[in-house]
Amino acid sequence: MNIVNSTIAAISTAKGNAAIAIIRISGRYAEKIADSIIKTKSGKKLQEIENYKITLGKIVKYKNSQVCIDEVLFWIARSPNSYTGENFVEINCHGGFFVTQLILDELIKAGAVLANPGEFTRRAFMNGKLDLTQAESVIQIINSESRLYLENSVKCLNGELSEKINYLKNFFISIASRISASNDFPDEIEEIDIKSLYPEIDEKKKEIEKIVDSYENGVKLEKGIKVSIIGKPNVGKSSILNAFVGFERSIVTDVEGTTRDVVEEETNVDGLIIKVYDTAGIHESLNKIEKIGIKYSIENIKSCDVVLFVLNANSFLTKEDIAIFEIINLYKKHIIFIINKIDLREPKVDILIKTFNLSIKEDVVLVSTPQNEKNIGIDELKKKIYKKVINDNINTNELYITNARQKECLNKTLDSIEKILFGIQNNISHDILCFEIEEISKSIENVLGTNIQEEIIESIFSNFCVGK
Ligand code: GDP
Repeated sequence: MNIVNSTIAAISTAKGNAAIAIIRISGRYAEKIADSIIKTKSGKKLQEIENYKITLGKIVKYKNSQVCIDEVLFWIARSPNSYTGENFVEINCHGGFFVTQLILDELIKAGAVLANPGEFTRRAFMNGKLDLTQAESVIQIINSESRLYLENSVKCLNGELSEKINYLKNFFISIASRISASNDFPDEIEEIDIKSLYPEIDEKKKEIEKIVDSYENGVKLEKGIKVSIIGKPNVGKSSILNAFVGFERSIVTDVEGTTRDVVEEETNVDGLIIKVYDTAGIHESLNKIEKIGIKYSIENIKSCDVVLFVLNANSFLTKEDIAIFEIINLYKKHIIFIINKIDLREPKVDILIKTFNLSIKEDVVLVSTPQNEKNIGIDELKKKIYKKVINDNINTNELYITNARQKECLNKTLDSIEKILFGIQNNISHDILCFEIEEISKSIENVLGTNIQEEIIESIFSNFCVGK
């Protein structure tokens, strides 16, 4: 199918009954097709209606205008001033499953074809309305489940990443043209000292590395951070998980070894998804099942971002606590020390700080989570986790890449830059250097979707929903 010549239509809103639904039509004949099933209240033909003007009309059957299907509002955006860059009509109809389907059927009868997933955005990309990073951010916005990820994706849609990439691309183009000019016009332009380019190129390499490194945190914005609750049995790990997420997710008893499988729950703290894991209490156990649970607890430490190491104010700093700390310490994770059950006994913060040689009191939170009574310290704990992750890792003013394709493209560019830097150190010829630098500008451009293979584009847009 020639995607440029066909006129596509799709229901853009979710299936099901709702107040309204949106049907979109895009392509050369969008207006003509819509005109064959829309009758305006004013009697105007669609071609008489100006761009973006919301207009009242009714949908009638194709070639049988006596049968009215729905009363709708619609607007037209003519090429190139539309989302797709093509002629575009959007119909706001009533949001029943049946009525929307019927309208779509009439559009198909009138000559539209059903849009593939992501085809509207794909056409926007093909017509230069969006580059690929912006198109990718559209799906990120739709899929986002946390404020920070959403904000980051909107920055990409607004072109912040494209701007950075274009700036880097232009840098390499300008270097290549400087070299080529000095080659082509040796009498007029002073010969470039190739070695003097090294620091400039190296600096740009570091900028690209910074973008690539941002991926790790970008994934945290998207998928959230993992917080593991670790401690000996009965210190209150399950109670803390429940208090943290605000409902009875984990079983709380005074029987040691109640939690065996890792219990996971998710909550959203100030725009960040936090996945909390309640684990089996770590101690010497002869019980076969409990032993497996303890193994899972230790594995959970390995895969988490922050460990909440829970101590009991009432049985404070036993040998078991020290042994657990040593295990946690092996994995070099962020640790927040929790002294729980402070309703039962005065917490000995100074001893804790001294024993574990902590440099800051900041990492200690005093908590109380007795059953059926008010919790203390949980809000502070949330703030501390947030601060630890955000301050240590994520700067909300920065832009993060969250897309593996973009990261892979930039990594390839870094490999090529590495080769060039090596060449510069080893007196590479001007011609070869010029060629390699031009190649780099092309490879950076791949991030924006220029010159990339059709199959890659196909697979990116196949992840979109129909109607977007
Ligand atoms: P876990 O084995 O570490 O998960 O501990 P649980 O959350 O199951 O709690 C063990 C026992 O301690 C239960 O009887 C809880 O009600 C009790 N408990 C938990 N937190 C507190 C607390 O802050 N104060 C008091 N007094 N009891 C608590």
